[in-house]
Amino acid sequence: MMSNSALVSYTQISPNCNVPRRQQIRKITPHHMAGWLTLPEFGALVAKSSRQMSANYAIDKDGNIGLFCDEANRSWCSSSPENDHQAVTIEVANDGGAPDWHVSNAAWRALVDLCVDICQRNPGLAGGLLYTGNARGTLTKHSYFSATACPGPYLGGRFAELAREVNRRLTGAQAEPMPAGTALHLERVPLYVASNSLSSAGTRTGTYYLWGTAVIGGRVRITNSPDNAGRPGQVTGWIDLADAVEAAGVRDQGDDDRGLSTIRIAHASNVQALALYELAQALDLVAPGYYRSAYTDTYKTAQQIEIGQISAGDAQAVRKLCEEIGAAYEQEG
Ligand SMILES: [Zn+2]
Repeated sequence: MMSNSALVSYTQISPNCNVPRRQQIRKITPHHMAGWLTLPEFGALVAKSSRQMSANYAIDKDGNIGLFCDEANRSWCSSSPENDHQAVTIEVANDGGAPDWHVSNAAWRALVDLCVDICQRNPGLAGGLLYTGNARGTLTKHSYFSATACPGPYLGGRFAELAREVNRRLTGAQAEPMPAGTALHLERVPLYVASNSLSSAGTRTGTYYLWGTAVIGGRVRITNSPDNAGRPGQVTGWIDLADAVEAAGVRDQGDDDRGLSTIRIAHASNVQALALYELAQALDLVAPGYYRSAYTDTYKTAQQIEIGQISAGDAQAVRKLCEEIGAAYEQEG
């Protein structure tokens, strides 16, 4: 049974396709958009039956991947029914114009990821990609079938590299797979909102779980419970693969031996409490059960605070703040 890529973050199925494709998938044909449409803009374009065109996937210049024609169906993309009945077609947005038609690094990385994923799921491409410079190979160009500049000098000039990189990843990926749901013991690991976010949205400390096996732009998705692995809407965010590999493994939260400690402040004014809360938030220590506070008097002028699951580095930051704001504390563990 044919499936679609789990790397997709946007879907708008086009009516411009043949259902189902007549042949097994054994080729990939990357195109360039000759423009830099967003995925919704591309979706709106191929939604028009008057356009008489579609693609299985499109990648925008930020590396987001959209689905516009199920892999089970033949897209209208390469001016060749023979090619497209066998090919998964991918439109890649440019980030520059003629004559070079440049493609961003983010879009390139997404293209490599998507090709790897397609090869992994389709038996006809289990051997990887073969670039021969003509229609006989398994990595084909639009320009083989019609008088078009597509895929453009920049992307077209990297097809041999694309096949090499995809094949390298396919062999490497078989060596050490980390299954979804693998426990990751994170210690101040930068968390990203998206695979291609340039700056992190804070850090994460504690036990998380690999959401899925896909690696995009060198990052993987994490979730907060093993039961949420693979579940849509349950992605906490993205972390670097290198961080995940380092954090994977042996320990579980129950018998954690990383020296996590708890800091208790018996009496903090509301102003001191606010400063402590803000620091805890910045250190990602406000997760349920990590940060507890209660008023110590009926007039709510002071609080007692307990911050748990604190790593050594975070403990140092919390102690430093307590000293700065003049709040007495006790540390346990
Ligand atoms: Zn094309």
